[in-house]
This record gives sequence, structure tokens and C-alpha cells, in this order.
Amino acid sequence: MNVLVVNAGSSSLKYQLFDTNTETVYAKGICERIGSEGSLIDHKQLIKGLKVEKQIPMKDHSEAMKIVVDALTDPEHGCISGMDEIEAVGHRVVHGGAFFSQSILLSDDVLAKLELCRDFAPLHTPAHIMGIKGCLEVMPDKPQVLVFDTAFHQTMKPEAYMYALPYEYYEKYGIRRYGAHGTSHRFVSGVMAELLGKPVEDTKIVTCHIGNGSSISAVKGGKVVDTSMGFTPLAGVEMGTRCGDIDPAIVPYMMEKDGLSTEEVNTVMNKKSGFLGISGFSSDSRDLEAAIANGPDDPHYERADLAVNILKHQIKKYIGAYAALMNGLDAVVFTAGIGENNPHLREIVCEDMEYFGIEINKELNAVTLRQPNIVKLSTDASKTAVYLIPTNEELVIARDTAAIASALKA
Ligand code: ADP
Repeated sequence: MNVLVVNAGSSSLKYQLFDTNTETVYAKGICERIGSEGSLIDHKQLIKGLKVEKQIPMKDHSEAMKIVVDALTDPEHGCISGMDEIEAVGHRVVHGGAFFSQSILLSDDVLAKLELCRDFAPLHTPAHIMGIKGCLEVMPDKPQVLVFDTAFHQTMKPEAYMYALPYEYYEKYGIRRYGAHGTSHRFVSGVMAELLGKPVEDTKIVTCHIGNGSSISAVKGGKVVDTSMGFTPLAGVEMGTRCGDIDPAIVPYMMEKDGLSTEEVNTVMNKKSGFLGISGFSSDSRDLEAAIANGPDDPHYERADLAVNILKHQIKKYIGAYAALMNGLDAVVFTAGIGENNPHLREIVCEDMEYFGIEINKELNAVTLRQPNIVKLSTDASKTAVYLIPTNEELVIARDTAAIASALKA
């Protein structure tokens, strides 16, 4: 089945056209600066290896969708002959609140519930709704499926998702842990469970999705027991520009000391912290690693090293905590930009973890470029398997969309 996967942001729209029978990506691209001057489409046709970048006005997501369809059906750099060859559309949705524990076919009721999730992801949800409405305008008769980043985490028990605040905050505002990157955790834990070669019910896996945004999950028997992100994607481990878990009393303290507004303190925690805040010069792990590799003569060495060591320390703590929660640990998986591409971080996380039966092969671990392949990092003697598994959230969206759309036809 040909499935168009759409990931709509506030001013962008990323897309991939899959043939889900062969799991081939025919084309992919991005529309940028939607609604402002200089909007453009960057389109890649992957069968013939063609690439076009075109400035073209797009006043909203509906116009962007039309331009995407034009690119996909273009006689020269397209890959299908007409819109009727697109059989279904799958949308990535960042937050589904407690409404959605699995992917779902779009309906009026679903859209109404998604509207109620606006407050949980104020930057993303309105963009998703614009993307969905844009698709509805351009392809009103195609099944549209929503795939939620929060859905996989809905298996957590209340003891894992509740905060020890007065209960009324949960009742009034839905304040609880929702988690993030669920589609990625689901994909890599699924692949890992297969690699373990035992019934999924018996597997105990920690998945480390480490990128600009990072989260760690405990997946026992194929279900999330706990995850590091919380009510918002600010919680958990140190990230590119986000602080992760801090003592909550620090927030009013900083506000009082520096006279910060709510918005300002939010900016400090979301945009000025993490790698950037600690290193004082970059949010990108490549820059930090370069400074560390240069050694103490590099002016950024000390704080780059500190930034990376903070993350290492926190990931170790999560692995230990999650092994305790699951009463065991079969495998640790690294994925996403840093998890897939930063051998140094993987090595220091896995160091001194014999207690958990973790031992990695440093040569196998030294893979540097984004790997299209799964790489086993642990030695054969290692009791706990350690793997690099490249994530593929788009593939999960395409698969779920095809499954739901096929069921409609049956
Ligand atoms: P996002 O959370 O925005 O999706 P990514 O998963 O792409 O982020 O992760 C971004 C991080 O991954 C950056 O810190 C970057 O340094 C790192 N990264 C991405 N690609 C590479 C690479 N080829 N080599 C080293 N680091 C990389």
C-alpha cells in the first residue's frame, strides 16, 4: 500500500511516501517557511536519486500539501502518476494526552479529542491540526491515521505516571507523566525483543533515545513500565538545550533571584540549558566531542567534558533504576542522533556496569556515522545485550496507517 507519512510543524511539513508492502521509501522531503516569505520545498525522489529545491509560495498547510502532491506526481521528479495512487495518510502527532493508547483513524470525535490536547503540546498540536486539515482539503477521501508519540507510554501504571502533587491537579488539569518519543521506543524495543529470540512477554529492555531531545524507557514484556520524560518533554536527562530533571524548588528560586517571569524561566530551562547551558558554547554533541577530543588546551574542553559526563551519569542512573523496576535487564538499546552516532557517550555509559552484566566491545562500538544497520555492541560474554538500533518512526507510522487502512477495505 502507498502511504504518505506527514509530520507537520508550525511552519514546516515533512513527508515520506512509502510502499508498505516492500517498506520502500519512494520519495521524501520538507516544505519550509510555510506562511512566510521565501517558502520552499526540498524534494527527493529516491528511486532515481533525484533532488529538487524550489521556492514557491505556501500560505498555509493546505497549500503545502497541494505542493507535496504536485511534487510526488510530477512527470520528471515524481514517483506516482496521480493522487489516486496515495492510498492513505499517516500523521505523526506529538501528544495524545490520555485519550489515545494506539494509532487511530481520523474522525470528528478524534479531532475533537486532539483539540483538547492543545495545552499539553502548545507548539505542536495546532501545527498537527493544520497539517491534518490541509490533507483533508487536498485528499478528502483518503483514510487518515494519527500516530501518537505518547501512545506507547499509556501502559504505565498510575504509580509510574502520577506525581505526588495534590490529586486535584491531576483531575483538573491532567498533570501526570505522559512521556515522549513513544513511536521510537516502540520501534527499537520491538526490534530488540526479536533479536533476543525469546517471547516478548519475557523481555526486559531499556531503550535510550538520545538526540536533541532525549528519553529513556523501561519496556517489560513489550509494555512501557516507566519513561524519563514527564508531563512535558523537559523532564528526564540533560538534552541539547533542555535541563531535564532538576529540583523543582530551583524554579521559584531562580525566578525570585533574577526576577524572571514564567516565560523567561521556561526559556532558561528549555532553550538555554542542557549541553548548551553547561558547555557555554554549543548544544550539538559533535561540537562537544570535538572540544573533548582536542584535550585540555581547547578553551571549551572542561565544560564540554562536564556536559557529556552529566548525561552519562544520568543515563547510568536510569538504566539502574529501570533494571530495578523490571527486576532484571536483558538489553540496553541506543538510538537517535546521539545514541546512534556518538561512540564516546555509549562507551562511558557502559563502563563500570559489570554489576548489570554489561560489557561492550570497544571496536564494535566505534561506529561513527549514522548507521543504517543494527550493530551489536556487547561482547558475547555480556549477560546484558547492548545494541545500536537506528530508529525509524516514519516506518512505524506507515505500518500502522497501512494496517488501519487495510482493515477498512476488508
Ligand atoms: P532531534 O531530537 O532533533 O530529532 P537528533 O536525534 O537528530 O535530534 O539528534 C541530534 C544530535 O545528534 C546532535 O547533538 C548531533 O550532534 C547528533 N548527531 C546527529 N548526527 C550525527 C553524526 N553523524 N555524528 C555525530 N553526531 C550526530
